[in-house]
Amino acid sequence: MKLSENQNLKTYNTFGMEVYARQFLQMESADEVPAIIQDFLSKQPYYILGGGSNTLFTKDFDGVIAHPVFEGIEVMEIFGENVLLRVAAGEPWDNLIQYCIKHEYFGIENLTAIPGLVGSSPVQNIGAYGVEVKDTIYKVEGYRISTGKPFELMNIDCQFTYRNSIFKQALKNDCIITYVWFQLSTKEHFTLSYQGLANALAERELPLKLRYISECVRKIRDEKLPDPKTIGNGGSFFQNPVVSIEQFQKLKAHYPDLVAYDAPDGCKKLSAGQLIEKAGWKGKRLGKAGTWKNQALVLVNYGEATPKEVLDTAETIVKDVNTLFDITLEMEINCI
Ligand SMILES: Cc1cc2nc3c(=O)[nH]c(=O)nc-3n(C[C@H](O)[C@H](O)[C@H](O)COP(=O)(O)OP(=O)(O)OC[C@H]3O[C@@H](n4cnc5c(N)ncnc54)[C@H](O)[C@@H]3O)c2cc1C
Repeated sequence: MKLSENQNLKTYNTFGMEVYARQFLQMESADEVPAIIQDFLSKQPYYILGGGSNTLFTKDFDGVIAHPVFEGIEVMEIFGENVLLRVAAGEPWDNLIQYCIKHEYFGIENLTAIPGLVGSSPVQNIGAYGVEVKDTIYKVEGYRISTGKPFELMNIDCQFTYRNSIFKQALKNDCIITYVWFQLSTKEHFTLSYQGLANALAERELPLKLRYISECVRKIRDEKLPDPKTIGNGGSFFQNPVVSIEQFQKLKAHYPDLVAYDAPDGCKKLSAGQLIEKAGWKGKRLGKAGTWKNQALVLVNYGEATPKEVLDTAETIVKDVNTLFDITLEMEINCI
């Protein structure tokens, strides 16, 4: 492990917030995790940090940040038309995508270019373009922080739902995920239910090949989303709100173009980005923070924004959306 004191976190969060952690611990192997829990995490406030692309640091962190840097992708088994991969928590997510394209393993290509590390992928059940990572996760390995004991959770026990899992609920802040196992297909199959992706492939006249689908997803994302390397951001800042059918019908009468998707229990999931845009917030700034010009759901750091400026912007957006639609947006990002 590597320990540093008073660590500047600016390059460890995609929002580019300049805050400091009293201690910063790079976990270099899964084997050292039990000792790290006992010697560091059990004694002070802690936070497990992956790539920091779903984390907004709101102030200096008076405790220890534990950050996995151990990487590796292992083929554990090939059976029938399936392959089982065991991937270390510190592996960058997009490296896994590249690996799967090279080896022709199918199932996660629509999740190309999502920032962050593999260890975080089950936490909010990352998803994009009609695919959620839950559809390919076989099991998750790690350690409970409260007991220091190892655990293994099979897919069904991870309680995956939309941008949610047991790691954001019952086990929130109580585990260090060390490995994620993926069950992928060795037989060609694609998910093209997301119209935007199907259209983009057709427009570019690209054949249905793993590599082209991944490239197409990357291109669509580049056009829509700001690159955190040049403009700090944390992707979607708010969750898409789910409303009752009655509330949806009332809103639809006022806003006929309201976008909605079916949600469990006969409810409707609305597009948070559209609500924010209708509240006049697309591309708008408040100080050095604001929303992205091509996607209002993405809050951005237009340069040296402070955590307070980002939070003030978020708060004002929540208030304005609430005034217009009587809906309270919930944050998707982890505020620390
Ligand atoms: C430009 C941009 C685009 C994005 N697009 C998408 C998208 O299309 N779909 C999507 O779902 N998300 C998207 N995101 C959000 C983000 O990339 C994902 O949530 C990603 O999985 C976060 O990974 P991370 O390693 O950066 O997580 P972090 O921000 O470091 O951590 C996120 C959460 O996971 C926990 N955590 C991290 N590592 C571990 C571990 N090893 N063990 C236990 N807990 C851990 C943290 O404590 C925290 O609660 C986007 C973000 C950005 C900036």
